[in-house]
Amino acid sequence: MTRISDLLGDEPTFSFEFFPPADEAAYKQLETTLEELSKTVPSFVSVTCGAGGAGHDRTQELVVQICTSRQFPAMAHLTCVGHSRFEIAELLDSYAAAGVLNILALAGDPPDGSAVCGDFKYALELVELIRNHPVSFCVAVAAHPEVHPRSRDRVFDRKHLADKLNQADFAITQFFFDPADYVQLLNELADLGCYRPVIPGVMPVIWPKSIRRYASMNGSTVPEELFARLETLSVADRFKAAAEAAAELAQCLLDFGAPGIHLYTLNHPQASTQIARELFPKLGTRYL
Ligand code: FAD
Repeated sequence: MTRISDLLGDEPTFSFEFFPPADEAAYKQLETTLEELSKTVPSFVSVTCGAGGAGHDRTQELVVQICTSRQFPAMAHLTCVGHSRFEIAELLDSYAAAGVLNILALAGDPPDGSAVCGDFKYALELVELIRNHPVSFCVAVAAHPEVHPRSRDRVFDRKHLADKLNQADFAITQFFFDPADYVQLLNELADLGCYRPVIPGVMPVIWPKSIRRYASMNGSTVPEELFARLETLSVADRFKAAAEAAAELAQCLLDFGAPGIHLYTLNHPQASTQIARELFPKLGTRYL
């Protein structure tokens, strides 16, 4: 199984994020999406896990299924808050046994904002646990260009991020809409001596209402002009316009030197395929 860290550095990576389907209908839609997006030959894909680590089993099932049936690696999102070290160590053992070598190590959020329970408080503790595993996993972590909502301030946020990222192989960011936020993040990490690759996460605004809600939870600033315009369009026109706006942002980030683009698909193929089509000539050798 390919380690994603081995793909970083030559040409930019292009990757997709999925979430595990909740029911049979959602599973069918994901199958169609996977089939469609596989034609773009992504560098890798990633699979989220539910809040508080609910559904680690469903994440694992989907990651293993993709790894065994597709030509690209799937990375498992793994949250640690609310879990014991024993539970997480068992999960790592079963990922290793299934040949899954790429893990996105996350704190996750305590249920209902309650006090932290379980053996973990921060993602760094999970990174350290993974690094002590006998199998050499590739470890990614989360970064928040506009600062994590629970961080006391920007300096505090960047210090903890640099400490965490220096123990990992690379980071993927929360979604954002202003490329200046990404540039500032990289400059601030460099000031702290952290030069690990940071792949920007790009969200096509196909469902403006839901994405507004996610943005308010994770501290992403919404560009009002873009959202207002998208909200007035028909579904077909909105998907097209959302893909164009996301492709423009992605291009700008690649021009700046981003090591790849990670697309939040919301399990829907249309916008992601269009973005891939627009970006592939610039990305080099892949084809559609
Ligand atoms: P951490 O890196 O632990 O940071 C959390 C907060 O703690 C930050 O404010 C940080 O500054 C602070 N902190 C860190 N270390 C210390 C310290 N030593 N002392 C004091 N404060 C400290 N959530 C899910 O439930 N499932 C998913 O699949 C999922 N996927 C994601 C994918 C990406 C790319 C991103 C960006 C986020 C994802 N999330 C997911 C959300 C994530 O779990 C939440 O943002 C969570 O609140 C923080 O996770 P983290 O790994 O960034 O935490």
